Amino acid sequence: MRIFTAALATETNTFSPIAIDRQAFEASLYARPGEHPATPTLCTAPITVGRAVCAREGWTLIEGSASWADPAGLVAKATYEELRDEILGQLRQALPVDAVVMGLHGAMVAQGYDDPEGDLLTRIRDIVGPDILVCAELDPHSHLTAKRAAAANFFVYFKEFPHTDFVDRAYDLWDIAVRTLKGEVKPVMSIFDCRMIDVFPTSKQPMRGFVDQLMALEASEPDVLSLSVVHGFMAGDVPEMGTKLVAVTNDRAAKGAALAERLGRELYAMRGTFMVSQVDERTAVDVALAATKGPVVIADVWDNPGGGTAGDATVILAELIARGATDVAVGTIWDPIAVQICFAAGVGAQIPLRFGAKSAPDTGNPIDKIVTIKALKKNAEMKFGASFAPFGDAAWIHFDGIDVILNSTRAQSFDPSLFSALGIDPTSRKVLLIKSTNHFYDSFSKIASEIVYCSAGKPYPNRPAETNYRKARKDIWPMVEKPWL
Ligand SMILES: [Zn+2]
Repeated sequence: MRIFTAALATETNTFSPIAIDRQAFEASLYARPGEHPATPTLCTAPITVGRAVCAREGWTLIEGSASWADPAGLVAKATYEELRDEILGQLRQALPVDAVVMGLHGAMVAQGYDDPEGDLLTRIRDIVGPDILVCAELDPHSHLTAKRAAAANFFVYFKEFPHTDFVDRAYDLWDIAVRTLKGEVKPVMSIFDCRMIDVFPTSKQPMRGFVDQLMALEASEPDVLSLSVVHGFMAGDVPEMGTKLVAVTNDRAAKGAALAERLGRELYAMRGTFMVSQVDERTAVDVALAATKGPVVIADVWDNPGGGTAGDATVILAELIARGATDVAVGTIWDPIAVQICFAAGVGAQIPLRFGAKSAPDTGNPIDKIVTIKALKKNAEMKFGASFAPFGDAAWIHFDGIDVILNSTRAQSFDPSLFSALGIDPTSRKVLLIKSTNHFYDSFSKIASEIVYCSAGKPYPNRPAETNYRKARKDIWPMVEKPWL
């Protein structure tokens, strides 16, 4: 067997001001054929797992390019077309192949392309013809369009959010692909449109139980090969945005459709109950000021660069300043210009500095203070599980009992080590203000006296009923109360 694999992925918040070009892919991951490292990033596990599976089976794996850009705004048209055509050219060179196994995200949007993955898969299908297996692993924060479903045989999505299972799901993808190529199964995909959009952390109920149920059904139900929830991605203003249920069966389309509908309606019945409850900035600061022991961790949940925002909102910091809070450390606020000024001034300098809230509306106002520069660090990094996440050149500034880390590479606050990287002991502060929706929890909960989930300003379109969508469908919950007539 000869199998072609490649990856092209990013998550596009179409409301984000941070445009994505080729350099943004190269800064995160760009690997030419055979150059992909041994460890996968989120959307490239089909390549690394494919190496292991094909070695085991004695099959030939032909690797194309792999690209991943951290979540941000629209991808430049030329960048998408270049990366796409690079992969298509490699596939033509690789012919004949028996299968194409792709690593995608599913929420990419490029200038001029609302559905880049649908475009890419359709072009792949045109090259290989109707009889060759085409499949992909995707992130559940994606848009399952009719075009991409028609072009591929089947999809497998990560089940967990946080996405701890991207390698396990790549094994599921390859397992079904191997059985298909050996003639043991014939995968068909059934899709149910839940007519809703929501956010579904799987670390808590009710989504934990729902995902456990999916895995139990996969293990017990005859002819069910894979079940996925496509969460959807509310920051992508595209026509087919929304939550879907996917059942991949062994040639049992009717059974798959019935199962997808049953599960999809079950999910719909729980709409609006999945997220942790959030408070506004006034209540968050009330909690912080009332605390007798620290650190109280305030998560600015919607100004999360992991969801494509700039990460420079100042709404909560301004509230802390207005209320006279001290013993506060903030990590981080993205402001490359302010960082550049701090580096020029040097450690120990006292300077007037304007920082934050320069990138998008509804994120507060820039803050003007006379600040003391306490530390500077080139190419700062924080821990992220077993690996490291870079946050660029960084400056620790101090004013009025408040410490702020300014950074120059956008990154969400994965781990308290972002503070120690600059010399701040995070356990010594009463209040830690960070930017992350969900991923921060594991590491920060170990040091926090209390965690406050705060929704401040509108850095992210997290209230779909109020979001001014131009392209997304509006016949789903919560844009309408009862999408099922
Ligand atoms: Zn995701």
